Amino acid sequence: MISFSLGCDEGHEFDGWFKSSAAFDEQVKKKIVTCPHCGSSKIQKLLMAPNIGAKSNKKMLAAAGSPKMPEVMETLRQMRQYVEQSADYVGDKFAEEARRIHYEEAEARGIYGEASTEDVRELSDEGIEVHPLPVLPEDNN
Ligand SMILES: [Zn+2]
Repeated sequence: MISFSLGCDEGHEFDGWFKSSAAFDEQVKKKIVTCPHCGSSKIQKLLMAPNIGAKSNKKMLAAAGSPKMPEVMETLRQMRQYVEQSADYVGDKFAEEARRIHYEEAEARGIYGEASTEDVRELSDEGIEVHPLPVLPEDNN
């Protein structure tokens, strides 16, 4: 079993357990996975990015606590755009790449990708802070 941090198209976040990453994709396609908050079946895995320590980054994360205010939504949108434009998408190799960068086995750069909550916990235990990219309602448009 593997657990993922998930988000729905309304911006709710929750965890879900699946047999495998492929099983998750399958169940989402069949709309079996629904949001416990609103029942939406438009579910996606939250993409993770390492916390790169910049002050502005922390400010944006603090802002993420109350995602309904328009200016906060704008900040989140900019944050997500920034990550998508400046970071490499590494898919399900996220945990591996984050470690390689942390231990200086790979070039230091921004990355984002998919990780199980287990991966996220292990990374955090190793001192590698990661956070989910905000889910924005228009992502599914
Ligand atoms: Zn929801």
